[in-house]
Amino acid sequence: MATQKRDYYEVLGVERTASAQDLKSAYRKLAHQYHPDKNPNDKQAEEKFKDISEAYAVLSDEQKRAAYDRFGHAGVSASSGPGAEGFPFGFGGFQTGNLNDIFGDIFGEVFGAGGGRRGRGPRNRGADLRYNLELSFEEAAFGCETKVRLPRPKRCEACGGSGSRTGRQSRCPSCGGSGEQRFQQGFFAVSRTCARCSGSGTVLAEPCTVCRGDGRVEGQSELSLRIPPGLETGSRIRLEGEGEPGERGGPAGDLYVVVQVRDHPIFKREDQNVVCSVPISFIQAALGAQIDVPTLDGKVQMKIPAGTQTGRVFRLRERGVPSPGGHRRGDQLVEVVVETPTHLTRDQRELLERFAELEGEQTHPQSRSFFDKVRELFG
Ligand SMILES: [Zn+2]
Ligand SMILES: [Zn+2]
Repeated sequence: MATQKRDYYEVLGVERTASAQDLKSAYRKLAHQYHPDKNPNDKQAEEKFKDISEAYAVLSDEQKRAAYDRFGHAGVSASSGPGAEGFPFGFGGFQTGNLNDIFGDIFGEVFGAGGGRRGRGPRNRGADLRYNLELSFEEAAFGCETKVRLPRPKRCEACGGSGSRTGRQSRCPSCGGSGEQRFQQGFFAVSRTCARCSGSGTVLAEPCTVCRGDGRVEGQSELSLRIPPGLETGSRIRLEGEGEPGERGGPAGDLYVVVQVRDHPIFKREDQNVVCSVPISFIQAALGAQIDVPTLDGKVQMKIPAGTQTGRVFRLRERGVPSPGGHRRGDQLVEVVVETPTHLTRDQRELLERFAELEGEQTHPQSRSFFDKVRELFG
C-alpha cells in the first residue's frame, strides 16, 4: 500500500470551499515557487511540484473534484489500492459490469477515457465550420464554380500559429512532462492524454501577445468552390482541413458547405428528374400539335398527339439533372394542362355552339365511361 497521501486541498493550501479562481491562483503561486526550472537538482522541490500539479489537475476538474470530495483519493488517485478508505464498496464481491452503472456519473470521465469521447482528432483540433451556400436551380443541376467569403479564424502570423512568442516550451506542470495522466481505481488503471498539454508534455513558456497564446486570430477567407453537378437542397460538401485552424498549431477542422437550391419559376426537382407543367389549348389537345417546351438545355419541340387529355405526362429522356457523378441524366416530365378558353368573341361562341350540336358520344371517351358508371349505380 502506498504511503498516506496528503489532502489535495492541504497541498494547495486552500479551504475545501475554494472557488475555481482561488484554486488557480494558489496553484500558480506554488507552481511558480517549486518549478523544476527554478530549483535544479532539488528532489524535494520536484516532488512538491508533482504533488501540487496532481492536486490541481484533480481539483480544477469539476467532475474529479466532486469524486474526490466524496471518496477521497480512492475516487481519483493513482496510489490508493483496493478498499481504500472512504470508498463505499468493498472491491471483493462487486461485478465489473455494474461499475459503470454505479459510478457512471462520477467516473464517466475516467472510465470513458479510452472511448474517444473527444470526437475525432487531437484535443486542439480546430472546430468544423458550416457555410450555407445558395445556388440557382441550374447551378445545382449542372454544378458550378463559385467564390465565397467566410469569416474564419486564421493562424496568427506573429507566432506562426504556435501561440508562443519565443517558441520556448517548458515542462507541462499537470503531467510532469509525461503527456499523460494516470488514474487508478482498484485494479483498473486508466491513463489518458494530459488535458493541459494535449499529450505533448510541454506548455508554452511565453505566450504570443498577438493571439494570447491561442495561435489564431480573427479573419476572413475567400475560397474557390467547385460544386459538382446533381446537388439538391440539404446536400453537404465536406472540405477537409478548411475549417477553423487548430489551437496552438493543431490540425484544422473541416468545412461543411450546405447547399440550398433556390426555387425555379417553372421547374421542380424530383430526384434526378425535372418536372414542369405546360398549358395547351383544348384545340391543340383535340387536334394534336407540336409545342415548344422549356428544358434546362433550352427550348425543345414536343409532339402532342390528337386527343390528349389534361394531366397527361410526357417524358423527355435525358433532359433532367445529371446524377452526382455526372454520368447519367434524369428525364424531364412534362404534364400538359388543357386550358378552357375564356373571353370568347361572338363568332367563337357561335362556332362552339355549332360544335356542341355536332358532338356525339364518341368524342368524349371519359364522360362516356363516367356516365355508364352512373347509369349502373342509379339505374
Ligand atoms: Zn501535460
Ligand atoms: Zn500568436
